Amino acid sequence: MLRLTDVHLPLDHPDSDLPAAILARLKIDAGELVGYTVFRRGYDARRKNAIMLVYTLDVTVRDEAAVLTRLQGVPHIGITPDMEYKFVARATASIAARPDAARPVIIGFGPCGIFAALILAQMGFKPIILERGKVVRERTKDTWGLWRKRDLNPESNVQFGEGGAGTFSDGKLHSGIKDPKHYSRKVLTEFVKHYAPEEILYVSKPHIGTFRLVKMVEAMRETIEALGGEFRFQAKVTDLDIDDAQGGKQIRGVVLENGEHIATEHVVLAVGHSARDTFQMLFDRGVYIEAKPFSIGFRIEHPQSLIDRARFGKFAGHPLLGAADYKLVHHCKNGRAVYSFCMCPGGTVVAATSEPGRVVTNGMSQYSRNERNANSGFVVGIDPKDFGGDKHPLAGIEFQRELESRAFVMGGSNYDAPGQLVGDFLAGKPSKEFGSVLPSYKPGVHLTDLAPALPAYAIEAMREAIPAFDRQIKGYAMRDAVLTGVETRTSSPVRIKRLDNFQSLNTKGLFPAGEGAGYAGGILSAAVDGIKVAEAVALSMVGSTDIH
Ligand code: FAD
Repeated sequence: MLRLTDVHLPLDHPDSDLPAAILARLKIDAGELVGYTVFRRGYDARRKNAIMLVYTLDVTVRDEAAVLTRLQGVPHIGITPDMEYKFVARATASIAARPDAARPVIIGFGPCGIFAALILAQMGFKPIILERGKVVRERTKDTWGLWRKRDLNPESNVQFGEGGAGTFSDGKLHSGIKDPKHYSRKVLTEFVKHYAPEEILYVSKPHIGTFRLVKMVEAMRETIEALGGEFRFQAKVTDLDIDDAQGGKQIRGVVLENGEHIATEHVVLAVGHSARDTFQMLFDRGVYIEAKPFSIGFRIEHPQSLIDRARFGKFAGHPLLGAADYKLVHHCKNGRAVYSFCMCPGGTVVAATSEPGRVVTNGMSQYSRNERNANSGFVVGIDPKDFGGDKHPLAGIEFQRELESRAFVMGGSNYDAPGQLVGDFLAGKPSKEFGSVLPSYKPGVHLTDLAPALPAYAIEAMREAIPAFDRQIKGYAMRDAVLTGVETRTSSPVRIKRLDNFQSLNTKGLFPAGEGAGYAGGILSAAVDGIKVAEAVALSMVGSTDIH
């Protein structure tokens, strides 16, 4: 099969334009074309009045060799790569027959843990999955408990529970990771097998939305169970059994909060970026861990119609384009980078704390993305030196806590988020009343002056970035746009370093993985990391060192 990339057609082109474009590109007659499928459909909106659809097409022709020879060296035409996922190992009968110690344990059932578990189960290794939170339906009730009744369950919330941090989210699935082995394709294919919309396989910026994510997570659990995986919910791992008798550290098991010991020599640590107590336990146990950069800031809300108009001009609202997103970055005079983060078109801002007495913002949307506001993180990059991470590996956690506690107090100490209108933020005066943009954060927003919420360098950088962003998205600096804060859980404040064999730098048998360990930054990249780590576990279990 041939792959044609960069096929540009006008937004409202008729279906017949696609085969016509293929014939023109390949310089063949209609009789030569056997068939084609759309591998990817994106758009180029750089010229608002001439938005183009951009296709990648897989094409079957009668004489592929002749076409390839004739078009040798012509860009954007090649052979379709083999993207099918291939397992690196299989559990042999002797491994399967070994006692419990042979079963791999996965801590955490977010995107990373889901894929580590699925791949291991598909290879026949029957993993045990330990998740501190509840099954997703019960977790949904607890999560809404904070949003509706100001009632936080520290073990069952936006961060913790079946499905992980991305379950109540926009479910954006694009990622900039290098992926020569096409693991992302395996992830998307499995999502579609488990109720995700089929279009995620071909649209350039796929998203799933919260309702479908919940169903999908349940279905994936059922598949893993059917393959011999075993789940424990409300099963927080509070300790690791580490044997350092032979000089180096070797995992021998994990300990649950109720004191139960589960023996294993292979532990996938996929705990996400909010497992602060678990990071402390790892540090106390001497597992190598270091501080890493992350970002802090606010959420910003604009009318979605403003973003649609700024990005799509007269094509705003076109069904093939959907609600518009944006991605912005500005390098400030004080050396800081300010950027948009986790933009949620037509969505809502959500209360995302997992700890009592703290306020954290994030964003989510439904598949339809039809809420009135667009929201996005509006954040500033910070380094370990900014928060004492050069002195203590867990200093970033303390810094996050300090900002989140301050935001709680600034919001009125009742889980309302502190907020301010953009116009007032730029003018440096507290806001008194909302204008045309009503914030979506629940349980509520308390208007104030947000400047004391973050260090002065961050506020300075954000004030410089807003007019710069307005030059790219006309109206970004609108007076009535609403800022809420604080956005602190942008990525993990720590990295749990691992070797080329995916095991911890100093603890054999411990496989740090996903966002919490500092190896992913979103649903797709966390899922891909889960696959890589599952492969490393499988190879270790069959006694192979063949990791590419
Ligand atoms: P997590 O998803 O955080 O999963 C970790 C799991 O480990 C949790 O379920 C937790 O309960 C469990 N756990 C922690 N400690 C223990 C322990 N000691 N014992 C047992 N279990 C434990 N990313 C995107 O790509 N697109 C988006 O649209 C998007 N929107 C988001 C919206 C929100 C509101 C949030 C909070 C995040 C969003 N993200 C989004 C980020 C994305 O969710 C994360 O990058 C991703 O979930 C990380 O996956 P993970 O598996 O590494 O960790």
